[in-house]
Amino acid sequence: MKAAILHGPRDLQIQSARDPAPRHGEVVVRVAAAGLCGTDYRIWTGDRPIVYPRVLGHEFVGTVIEAGAAVTHVRVGDRVAVEPNYSCGRCPLCREGNRNLCLSRTAVGIDVDGCFAERVCVPERCCWPAPAGVADDDLLVTEPLAVVVRAVARGRVERGESAAVVGAGSLGLLALQVLRGRGARVLVVSRTARRFALARELGAEATHAVSDGPLEATAGAFSGREGVDVVIETAGTAGAVAHALALVRPGGRVVLTGLPHEPTPVAFFSVVRREVTITGSMIYQDEFPEAMRLVAAGTVRTRPLVTHRFALDAIGEAFAAHERPDSIKVAVRIS
Ligand SMILES: [Zn+2]
Ligand SMILES: [Zn+2]
Repeated sequence: MKAAILHGPRDLQIQSARDPAPRHGEVVVRVAAAGLCGTDYRIWTGDRPIVYPRVLGHEFVGTVIEAGAAVTHVRVGDRVAVEPNYSCGRCPLCREGNRNLCLSRTAVGIDVDGCFAERVCVPERCCWPAPAGVADDDLLVTEPLAVVVRAVARGRVERGESAAVVGAGSLGLLALQVLRGRGARVLVVSRTARRFALARELGAEATHAVSDGPLEATAGAFSGREGVDVVIETAGTAGAVAHALALVRPGGRVVLTGLPHEPTPVAFFSVVRREVTITGSMIYQDEFPEAMRLVAAGTVRTRPLVTHRFALDAIGEAFAAHERPDSIKVAVRIS
């Protein structure tokens, strides 16, 4: 099969690789369409070290073409979105259902070979059947969508509440739509106004660029009270955490989905004084079906987020496109 193999920072080569063979409980998925994300980009540049050589890529949809022994839940021919993290299944966290928190988790496209290849081998339990009638191109962001479906659920968002999303990247623009689907009014906050026209098209009632002025005043005007009921943070920076805490009202909730790779000062005086609930939300547990249901129902539109498309042979251009200011989600068409 053809695969994009990373041999070192920025050393990505299209090569012929051995077809993966499924072992016990595994299936081989022929990749149809994949998305490129910030994690892939940081690995490609070398910012995030991994063991080389490696096939990157973890956001994808495809068709099961081969099943190993003891595979019972999926069949050859099934079209599936793949949950690209699998837990050990044996530790106390896994046994109590918190498999997203397992300390021995395996990440597809990081710890084992991923989807920037014609075929990829994964445990069958990672495969979630795709709804009929929804195009591969609409499902290639199911993985990031599952992240924000979980975040919004953990924020216990209710109809009529005021919400803010921090960050207007693909996660932010998906969170906005999931919140709208829950009946919340949404303010989108970002460093720049670049994506605000799209955010409004996708349902944002209001937008605020950080340079526009104090966030507290905007949150107050938008909510008609001391701040918004709930904030979903998607940017994963120290600044974004501070912005989330500035937007929320006393007694409100902040859900953090980003993983800040830098020291993150938090004014805990203000957290206690205002009884703010801060909740971490780590990837997903069982949110893939709900994510795909939202796309099938038209509640979440994913296609406007896909700004660039490349064939596997042009994957070098796909990585270059990821850093362009007009890029939101770069897609790679594999087969
Ligand atoms: Zn990702
Ligand atoms: Zn475990």
